[in-house]
Amino acid sequence: MRKVILVKFAPEIFLKGLNRGKFEKKLKDNIKNVIKDLNYEFVEDLGRWFIYSEQMEQIIEKVKNVFGVMEVCVVTQVEASLDNIVKQALLELQETSAKTFKVETNRANKNFSPGSMEVSRKAGSYILQNNTEVSVDVHKPECTINVEIRNMAYIYAKRIKAVGGLPYGMNGSTMLMLSGGIDSPVAGYMMARRGVELSAVYYHSHPYTSERAKDKVKQLTNILKEYTGKLTLYVVPFTEIQMQIIEKCREDELTIIMRRFMMRLACALAEKYGVNSVTTGESIGQVASQTMEGLIVSDDVSDRPVFRPLIAMDKVDIIDVSRKIDTYETSILPYEDCCTIFVPKHPKTKPRLIEIIKSESVLDIDKLVEKAITDMEIYK
Ligand code: ATP
Ligand code: MG
Repeated sequence: MRKVILVKFAPEIFLKGLNRGKFEKKLKDNIKNVIKDLNYEFVEDLGRWFIYSEQMEQIIEKVKNVFGVMEVCVVTQVEASLDNIVKQALLELQETSAKTFKVETNRANKNFSPGSMEVSRKAGSYILQNNTEVSVDVHKPECTINVEIRNMAYIYAKRIKAVGGLPYGMNGSTMLMLSGGIDSPVAGYMMARRGVELSAVYYHSHPYTSERAKDKVKQLTNILKEYTGKLTLYVVPFTEIQMQIIEKCREDELTIIMRRFMMRLACALAEKYGVNSVTTGESIGQVASQTMEGLIVSDDVSDRPVFRPLIAMDKVDIIDVSRKIDTYETSILPYEDCCTIFVPKHPKTKPRLIEIIKSESVLDIDKLVEKAITDMEIYK
């Protein structure tokens, strides 16, 4: 008899048909990668994954944050016999303070008899015989004792909800526009959680935005890296572009033209590094530039899909996620952003594409983009 960790993956992975093997392999590699510095043994038993370790707590902390893992359970492994199972079921229940319970059995090993219903019944009556304080409640039990019969048998009551999603790196890639704000780290997290590989770009307006603002973005990158394993940050100088726009374009069109440059730069980087798409932290109606018209005009310069996973979320809900993923405290540090230092008094909320194209035609767009990319810094 020994305690082991059962790792359950998201049911969506079961639906992947012929690709299921690839998803499973990726997930397994990602799990092994986050616990590589700990001592453990990874074992499979009829398709279920188990981890044996002396460092149980640390393993659970790491594995429950791996995208694609749905649940981690602390289970007791015993030789598969009815006698062992019913005794262990009683012990598991006694570790809790529950007064009502039910037993649920899953029998993957069809050579084992009796069947799963009978195992549950036997375990239930054994518990009732030995503990007169508890009763069975099949509808709303305080405690469910799970029994898994494979080559070995596994009994557990403790289940820890994990992060869910799909294995990181299985669903293409995206260039995340990462500012120092609350929204974009959350947007990046949401894409990564669905298995999309991230790179990040930050537009830095030195000296109008400080070193500390840049450090803040690096710090956010480091937090996101906890989820993604590795993450490259491109810091692209943006001052020259902003100065040219301020000098040569209409004040009320400053923001939208600036946003078109951000989009062009993200696409140029994506092209250069073989990244499929672009992601931003925009949410419809949140600020003057995040209107339907504004989004349409900035998408116009993109040659690939632009994802905005926060588009239909309320700010309070975005903040909830940012607290949960631990970026909130960093995001609210009060350093200036390039979008906040040059804000027009009355920005156009309904820009028209043909007008904007005309206005920005006075700029040498290609050269500005090329120069900014040439001068960028890369943090791996
Ligand atoms: P955030 O909280 O992510 O900063 P926001 O609510 O402040 O977003 P905006 O400043 O309008 O909104 O920016 C919208 C999106 O544009 C951001 O979510 C981010 O994806 C991108 N963005 C804005 N500023 C920068 C920047 N300096 N570098 C990289 N991306 C940026
Ligand atoms: Mg911002």
